[in-house]
Amino acid sequence: MTGRVVVVGSANVDLAVDVPRPPRGGETVLGGRLRRSPGGKGANQAVAAAWAGGADTTFVGALGEDEGADLVLVSLGGAGVRTDLVERADAPTGTAFVTVAPDGENAIVVAPGANEHVRIGAAQAARIADADVVLAQLEIPVDVVAAAAAARRPGALMILNAAPARDLPDSLWEVLDVLVVNEYEAADLAGEPEKLLKRVPAVVVTLGRDGCVVLRRDSEPVRVPGSSVDVVDTTGAGDTFCGVLAAALAQGRTLPEAARHAGVAAALAVTRPGAQAAVPAADEVAASGG
Ligand code: ADP
Repeated sequence: MTGRVVVVGSANVDLAVDVPRPPRGGETVLGGRLRRSPGGKGANQAVAAAWAGGADTTFVGALGEDEGADLVLVSLGGAGVRTDLVERADAPTGTAFVTVAPDGENAIVVAPGANEHVRIGAAQAARIADADVVLAQLEIPVDVVAAAAAARRPGALMILNAAPARDLPDSLWEVLDVLVVNEYEAADLAGEPEKLLKRVPAVVVTLGRDGCVVLRRDSEPVRVPGSSVDVVDTTGAGDTFCGVLAAALAQGRTLPEAARHAGVAAALAVTRPGAQAAVPAADEVAASGG
């Protein structure tokens, strides 16, 4: 089963430069060569759902009329993501400015640009109504996430990756089926992950190299161990995890099975540089035991 996934979210151009140390206020630091690559949590997760997860995936987002838009569209298209519902906004394509220190620590500033203009029109709503799983993040306006949730058919799952963490209206909590957060986001939202179960029926807390834990209202927590790998670049690990989780759920796997599969894919992604470029192909995930 292929499974149909709609990812509603951000697309950015990532501009990254290695720095000897992050600049302090008022300071200029000379860095290394500029790297320009497609990013944004929404686009990264769509690439993961299609390329690593093998799902029939549509990306709903907004881009500018600029070269950055082309960079993003080429990457999405190359992964097999449907981009026919991506809209062009009267704003520049979202851009992330990233400095990478020698210890690998990233500092990031995002200019959202076109991402503030993502909308759920009739065509987007119709595609969502046809999906098995809808996946969103918080780099776009919260009301767009709510509109996406409202457009899905009964029985289709709404997954929110609450990144970056921020306060959510009650009306949004009520429509979520699965929340995916890392440890820090879980702490920001609720203090302790178990408390999140009061608001949403299922929560997956990712734990970096330690894998993840699946919490559900009606059963005991399931701990999914991580894979031990040589870490090259953890950028996009969480996005690979979310995209593959959505694909696996759309294909009918249970939440713990889907989380295990997503963890195998995410562990492969950290062995490669980049975000979208690091997403493994579905056959590689299968060959690694996913
Ligand atoms: P985020 O990138 O959103 O902070 P995590 O760091 O928790 O999220 O990583 C998401 C998932 O990626 C983890 O659940 C795990 O499956 C995988 N992962 C991340 N870092 C590593 C690592 N160092 N080794 C193996 N797997 C990793």
